[in-house]
Amino acid sequence: MKLDRIMPSVYIKTYGCQMNERDSEQVAAMFLAGGYRLTDSDAQADVVLINTCSVREKAELKALGKMGMLCSQAEEKPWAVFGLMGCMVQSRARELFEEIPRLDVVTGTHCYHRVFSICDALLKQRMANLPPAPLREGAHISQVEDLPDAHTRIRDHLPARSSCSAFVSIMQGCEMHCSYCIVPFTRGGERSRPATDIMDEVKRLVDTGVKEVTLLGQIVNRYGRDEAIVDGRGAFVRLLEALHDIEGLERMRFTSPHPIGFHDDLVRAFSYLPKLCSHIHFPMQSGSDRILKLMRRPYRQEKYMELCAAMRSARPDLAITTDIIVGFPGETQEDYLLTKAAVKKVEFDNAFIFQYSPRRGTPAAEMPGQICLREKEARNHDLLETVNRIAIARNNALVGTRQTILVEGPSKTNPNRLQGRTSQNKPVIIEKGDAQIGTLVPVTICECTGFTLYGAV
Ligand code: SF4
Repeated sequence: MKLDRIMPSVYIKTYGCQMNERDSEQVAAMFLAGGYRLTDSDAQADVVLINTCSVREKAELKALGKMGMLCSQAEEKPWAVFGLMGCMVQSRARELFEEIPRLDVVTGTHCYHRVFSICDALLKQRMANLPPAPLREGAHISQVEDLPDAHTRIRDHLPARSSCSAFVSIMQGCEMHCSYCIVPFTRGGERSRPATDIMDEVKRLVDTGVKEVTLLGQIVNRYGRDEAIVDGRGAFVRLLEALHDIEGLERMRFTSPHPIGFHDDLVRAFSYLPKLCSHIHFPMQSGSDRILKLMRRPYRQEKYMELCAAMRSARPDLAITTDIIVGFPGETQEDYLLTKAAVKKVEFDNAFIFQYSPRRGTPAAEMPGQICLREKEARNHDLLETVNRIAIARNNALVGTRQTILVEGPSKTNPNRLQGRTSQNKPVIIEKGDAQIGTLVPVTICECTGFTLYGAV
């Protein structure tokens, strides 16, 4: 078996619920943005990931059995990286490494944003130990500019419900050097893709039936930051405007932005670009300025709050979701309470809460004041309770409103129903027969059960 050094492949098998499916899509998008291709062949893949589910014991056993089997057949590709993801495995990592000696990575849900960088670094390390491969004529290291149509590959390999939406990588790399993050070391400096290439890719996507694109970048709003400001608009906003003009493209999203480089032009864009969805995933990380400083996040709470308020004033129905790290080294109870207060103030529609875990090679791993696991778990649990309460209240407030959803495909829990997504990125279940997959339909939200909305066309 041969290793493709230019474009390695990743295989992702998902067990369990829609949340797991969505998590796998996000992980897949990170691999695509990193220059990998998705494959449906576990035997051929250079990175093999299984996203497990702990809700049903049978699914859990099936997932572990499959990983054991794949690892036992891995002699032909000694470079391959094998990883298990999921809420169940994080608590059993030690045991699993003993049970499946060839297993490389075990990661819980709080670490999904790191799966790519960990696996990629491991694969590159192993590739470096292999004898050099003869260079193919014309071969060159894959940069973001060279990536072939990521959307085509993701569409080929993801369930049909995603066929009307696609991810498009527009920039890569990061120069921020947050003290807990390994990305700047593994992904290098910022590189933006030419706008013409992005436009061509999105037009081709639209020709194949895509209605919604999500622009991806490590710090997506720093796209083309070396380019001149034209009429008060930076390169990223000009790209959004150009994409907005593409006939047939109905929706645009982007992820993930950073408060640094988030200028007025981008805030204003929410007021005059109706295709730009009413949702932003806007990582806050901490509500304490002291901790933000230790994290080397170069903004303060006040700035973050100002931006949230400005965006909501430009787009009143804007849903804001975020990432938060709890238990960062030196985080006191007071710091944690500031984070909790910030969560209540912004009223996030949802938040991914990560318990800090040290990443070797990063400054934070060496910092004094590491927080014990029990304290991290307590803060995580407490904050999750607050986040969920607010998120459910915000969902409940949508009952009785009219929303437009993009119908993505059958509901995973009930194939007799369809699932769509609002502009605010909230999933809505409707009856089958009420709408066609891949169309935008107005619905009235009739019911809300926690995180699931039910609508009638
Ligand atoms: S902004 Fe910070 S957390 Fe995000 S990729 Fe860059 S260094 Fe990592």
